[in-house]
Amino acid sequence: MSEKTRTFPLPLSSVTDKSPAKKPVYNTVATPQTATQNAARTAAANAGGWRPQPVASPSRAHSYAQERAQVQLGSMPAPRQNALVSDGVRRAMVQRVAKQGVSDPVVLGALDTVPRHMFMDEGLAPQAYIDASLPIGHHQTISQPYIVARMIEVMRAGQDVHRVLEIGTGCGYQAAVLACVAKEVYSIERIKSLHELAKANLRPMRVPNLRLHYGDGMLGLPQAAPFDGIILAAAGLEVPQALLDQLNIGGRLVAPVGARTQHLELVTRVSKNEWVRQTLEDCHFVPLRPGTV
Ligand code: SAH
Repeated sequence: MSEKTRTFPLPLSSVTDKSPAKKPVYNTVATPQTATQNAARTAAANAGGWRPQPVASPSRAHSYAQERAQVQLGSMPAPRQNALVSDGVRRAMVQRVAKQGVSDPVVLGALDTVPRHMFMDEGLAPQAYIDASLPIGHHQTISQPYIVARMIEVMRAGQDVHRVLEIGTGCGYQAAVLACVAKEVYSIERIKSLHELAKANLRPMRVPNLRLHYGDGMLGLPQAAPFDGIILAAAGLEVPQALLDQLNIGGRLVAPVGARTQHLELVTRVSKNEWVRQTLEDCHFVPLRPGTV
């Protein structure tokens, strides 16, 4: 086991700021009768602290169930605790995402866990569970729930992923979803104030297995590489070679590629010098830009 592995999990506060983590308030989950049943069953089994179960073999499931750090939900600010941001509304969103074709129960469960409304302006919070990207400031957006789920599903391919890198933290939503499905998550943001926003959004939740970095994600994070999965939340004309080099052999990278017309690309590293590309559906993301601001 590497030194890096041993250092996990750390409280988010230890890598972002020094304020003590709030005592978590656990979310109990009702039983839906829908396409998200698997995910909900897992949630119910773990009531008192949701923990996703992998769809891999029982032995791996066992070890990951033991090891996987979980997102524990912080208490919601009272004014946002209304019908438009309730667990039921979030579950309806998950059901819509499932109807659109996302079937991985681990991903659906993660979507069911993370309170998306806590990652956006209070004024926009009532729209948090519609399937749309929404502004988060600085001409950037919180990604549409469907695309968040789809990219993670493609990256996982039904397998556990240990170490994952996200490029484009934005408000931190997808990073929190990723933290439900991977053991260690690193996320990089190039806009300082969005990096700060993500820290503030994530502070009330305890996300011990997520590390936020301020920097140019086009360079990746060599000090934490190699990654089993990499997700880009912003579109470049091509996938930066630095990111391809930081993929583990067998690792999978999912990225939007293109300018006006964009498509999702899945790149699998099959050997030291060989990557296989697959083009998936059309998509629309904000641009990947170099440097930091
Ligand atoms: N992951 C977010 C989506 C944020 S939008 C979510 O959960 O909804 C995409 C983000 O990518 C923006 O915040 C943008 O500033 C960031 N970005 C663009 N180019 C980047 C780069 N080179 N490195 C890091 N972040 C980048």
